[in-house]
Amino acid sequence: MNNFDFYNPTHIVFGQGRIAELDRLVPAQARVLVLYGGGSAKKTGTLDEVKAALGAREVHEFGGIEPNPTYETLMRAVELARREKLDFLLAVGGGSVIDGTKFVAAAIGYGAGDPWQILLDHGASVTQAVPFGAVLTLPATGSEMNAGSVITRAEFQAKLFFNSALVYPKFSVLDPTKTYTLPARQVANGVVDAFVHTVEQYLTYPVDAMVQDRFAEGLLQTLIELGPKVLAEPENYSVRANLMWAATQALNGLIGAGVPQDWATHMVGHELTALHGIDHAQTLAIVLPSMLQVRRASKRAKLLQYATRVWHIDSGSDDERIDAAIEQTRAFFESLGVKTRLSDYSVARGDLDRVIEQLSAHGMTAIGEHRDVTPAVSREVLELSL
Ligand SMILES: [Zn+2]
Repeated sequence: MNNFDFYNPTHIVFGQGRIAELDRLVPAQARVLVLYGGGSAKKTGTLDEVKAALGAREVHEFGGIEPNPTYETLMRAVELARREKLDFLLAVGGGSVIDGTKFVAAAIGYGAGDPWQILLDHGASVTQAVPFGAVLTLPATGSEMNAGSVITRAEFQAKLFFNSALVYPKFSVLDPTKTYTLPARQVANGVVDAFVHTVEQYLTYPVDAMVQDRFAEGLLQTLIELGPKVLAEPENYSVRANLMWAATQALNGLIGAGVPQDWATHMVGHELTALHGIDHAQTLAIVLPSMLQVRRASKRAKLLQYATRVWHIDSGSDDERIDAAIEQTRAFFESLGVKTRLSDYSVARGDLDRVIEQLSAHGMTAIGEHRDVTPAVSREVLELSL
């Protein structure tokens, strides 16, 4: 196992009815900015519940944060917070709202010019952030318990990430009943995103990290077991609670501690979202099966472990077992209604040059756990995904 630090200061408040505890979680004197997305938090009553819990505190609202939160929108929240001297942020929504809130938190007091720089240096220039909490309504990204964020700049068609230990949420309230009214597409996307987050940290090469491996395999098997149920039984508390916790655990740092990490599928996927507007999880479902196929030699040992322990594929030659594991992965995504081919999203061979150009423009020329995923390899992956 490689050397590692593990640090995660986010306080998780899990269970039905716990939004009422915001009064205890948010500082009494806080001047609060509540950030939310397209209005479902308002429609479902979650926003009212949040405001009631905040009691007599001064509360401002900022709605309209998009599914891939943009710099353009978020800078308006930054201006509002500066103007009204707000000193605590509360994200109410899914990963996009929480990611957006992390950017706002770091940008309000940013002293090094245009806060877009935070994305260009992936967080290195962040020296302070306004404290914030989250009320999670969509299990998927794990943003509620990590220090990462992905922000899009619409005018550049650029979707970039930043990390900073200063943007861990102080707390996240996870109430599984808040996911009951989500559209099936968002729930299916959440399962795929959590699955691929786990794979990006697990399916690399062995470093004898027994706990991380078994934990990752447990998450993957849990997601496989939950997959059909989360769509068929939207108001099954146990199913939604387990999905929510699995998605959080998939990206809170534990399974990634002390092990090599890949993330090439995410980096290629980000370009597909930025250029073609494909949902984040859909891009992962498109890219992952081909990524595993193209890189099967360097991932061989872990692919065999994945076939045996996650999919229980015990017969056939090694190569047949790897093929079967990759096909089962694709079939799992398709079973959730998430299509796995570029052609399903009207992206054709002629569009691939631009994807590769943008990857290069964003410095993604040597990605993956061995830094050997060059633009040529990414092209091969995309061609196999057509
Ligand atoms: Zn993701």
